Amino acid sequence: KALAHLKAFQRLDSEAQRLTASNASQLIAARFDFANQNLKISRLKEDQLARDIMSARIQLAALSIVFALLLLGFIQVRRSRNVIRAANDSLTLSNTSLEKALRAKAEFLAMTSHEIRTPLNGILGMTQVMLTDQSVAPVMRERIEVVNSAGEAMRALVDDILDMAKMESGELTIAHEKTDLAEILRETGRLWAGQAEGKKLELILETETAPRHIMSDGGRIRQIIFNLMSNSLKFTEAGHVKLSVVTEKGSMGAEELVVRVSDTGIGIPEEMHEDIFQSFKQADAGVTRKYGGTGLGLAICRRLAEGLGGTISVASEVGKGSTFTVRLPLDQPASVSEVDAAADDAPTLSTAAMLIVDSNPDSRATMAMVLMSEAQSVAVAATSDDAIVAIIDGGVNHVLFDVRTVLSSAEDPLDALRRVTTAANRANVLITLMVASGQGPTIAELMMLGASQLIVKPIGIDDLLEALATLYTPVPEQFIAPSLKAHAA
Ligand code: ADP
Repeated sequence: KALAHLKAFQRLDSEAQRLTASNASQLIAARFDFANQNLKISRLKEDQLARDIMSARIQLAALSIVFALLLLGFIQVRRSRNVIRAANDSLTLSNTSLEKALRAKAEFLAMTSHEIRTPLNGILGMTQVMLTDQSVAPVMRERIEVVNSAGEAMRALVDDILDMAKMESGELTIAHEKTDLAEILRETGRLWAGQAEGKKLELILETETAPRHIMSDGGRIRQIIFNLMSNSLKFTEAGHVKLSVVTEKGSMGAEELVVRVSDTGIGIPEEMHEDIFQSFKQADAGVTRKYGGTGLGLAICRRLAEGLGGTISVASEVGKGSTFTVRLPLDQPASVSEVDAAADDAPTLSTAAMLIVDSNPDSRATMAMVLMSEAQSVAVAATSDDAIVAIIDGGVNHVLFDVRTVLSSAEDPLDALRRVTTAANRANVLITLMVASGQGPTIAELMMLGASQLIVKPIGIDDLLEALATLYTPVPEQFIAPSLKAHAA
């Protein structure tokens, strides 16, 4: 039993030893695994840390790049802003100096044109006086005529340059006031009739339906019509020149004042229809040499038409003729009182700048004294030559001419009178001839001279004033012979 127990005890002991040994080895293996796992974890952590460090570095680098780019952009923006500011500054500077230069140019042109006009008027006045002198030999007369027409061309050029200078410096002023359109059209007809006749052209006027009064700038409208009529007459050798002024509905449905100047002249090639409205542009250099001109007229017309709120255009065919059309917004005086006010502005004897021409100093002085209280201003002249110079100089709108002034001169009285009346008609100045019945040329001869009025003396002061005043009424009395009337009665 004891042996059996010993053996069992030994077995249990060895079993226990084996178990202990296996437990120990398992424990060692487990510890080893644990150590292994720890190692792996620490490696993984190291890797993670390395990756974190790397990504942090990348982010930092990206941030630095973005920051650097932003900084660069900011510097560039600042730099270009500075460049733009500097460019703006220098542009403002050059703009100011350009404006100054432009103003100086306009002032210079205006001053020079004015300075040129004054002596030019003297030259033209004198050439016209010389042309009226019958004792001038034909060859010399031709030469003086050349000087005269060159002077006229120069005056037109100087006027155009002056206008253009004013427009470029923005000094062009456009009025908006009651304008007697009917009077402007009457004047135009009177002015161009003689010119058309001189070229054997028919002058057609279609102005009956034009409104009598409009709100606009009469001077500018006159200037446009004048330029267009002068071109049409210049470029037409045969046929007619027509001025039509009507009211029409425009494309927007509003009433417009439409001025058309058409002719049967040389016409304008289609490709030039726009160019001719540019400054100094002419359709054909050869044609220009033949007809003269500066190429400024239509540029001025366009600026004026636009200044008046309208347009100007041309339709033309070479060899057939041209039609220039100006369309202006129509603004008629609203009330009757405005029309009446415009009628009040119409010229009367009291607004006239009179020139009394009489070789007799006593009658001259008496007449001046009488008219002083009736007219706006009174000037006097003793000879027909002085009268012509005064008419050309301007500032006179009614000449009262005593026929005896030309009777004592060496030249033919009718010729002398014709020159004075022609000068007056050209300058659009009224001229009243006064003649003592039976003295000098016959009444019939005097009536053919184209004076505005012929008064036969003797005539009382009141009758004379009444007769002069009729020239300012719609139906002027052109032949007054109170003595004859009295006889007839
Ligand atoms: P200018 O008459 O002084 O030359 P404009 O500006 O008035 O200047 O006219 C420019 C050009 O347009 C003229 O030179 C001419 O070639 C052309 N032109 C103008 N009006 C007419 C017309 N009625 N008939 C033919 N050509 C014309």
